[in-house]
Amino acid sequence: MPRILVVEDEEHLAEGLAFNLEAEGFEVELQSAGDTALQRIGAEPPLDLIILDLMLPGLSGFEVARRARATGNYVPILMLTAKDNPQDIVRGMELGADDYLTKPFKLDELVARVRALLRRRRWDGADDEAGPAPPERFGRVTVHFDRLEIERPGGVLQLTPLEASLLHALIAREGEVITRGELLETVWGLRPDTRTRVVDSFVVRLRRYVEEKPERPRHIVSVRGRGYRFVR
Ligand code: CA
Repeated sequence: MPRILVVEDEEHLAEGLAFNLEAEGFEVELQSAGDTALQRIGAEPPLDLIILDLMLPGLSGFEVARRARATGNYVPILMLTAKDNPQDIVRGMELGADDYLTKPFKLDELVARVRALLRRRRWDGADDEAGPAPPERFGRVTVHFDRLEIERPGGVLQLTPLEASLLHALIAREGEVITRGELLETVWGLRPDTRTRVVDSFVVRLRRYVEEKPERPRHIVSVRGRGYRFVR
């Protein structure tokens, strides 16, 4: 049973989330402050997902995400933002969140996102009879999908499951244009017409990992008005 940590200081919302997620068959833990949440994230038993509010006492959600990632914890993070603030969203994604929802949100939307993130968590191929995807080499990097790692000059970098999944989706369609909608559907399990910048903020992250000059990408190329194309 997947174990979800809900970090939310609005008591009624936290209890409502716990009630509904438990009804969906998840194990739920609650934390109402950033500092205690961070302690829990570093403890046992391991979590399968974190639902993280941004405005928290103790430490902000941004800081919780940043510190969790800095300690090598890559549990998927679904961030809750108070309002549709693109800067908050991009910052949260850059600090390590995997997806976000803006408040107020519909419960069924939350559950759909949770399920999509948990599917991605298993994406490394552990449940796949075909086994994990083989390593891919291009430019100056080697991507190990089984270990969620990128080897590049200067060291090894850990990918989140969603980052690996996006990179894999791009490589799988090498040379072809793949639209944002297709990526939302295959990588995030979202409807292709979902209004979100998540694809673009993840592409920014991937370019930093794989491109020699991220501002002039050679491998993950933008195709204006259409989407992206992977070039080896
Ligand atoms: Ca709050």
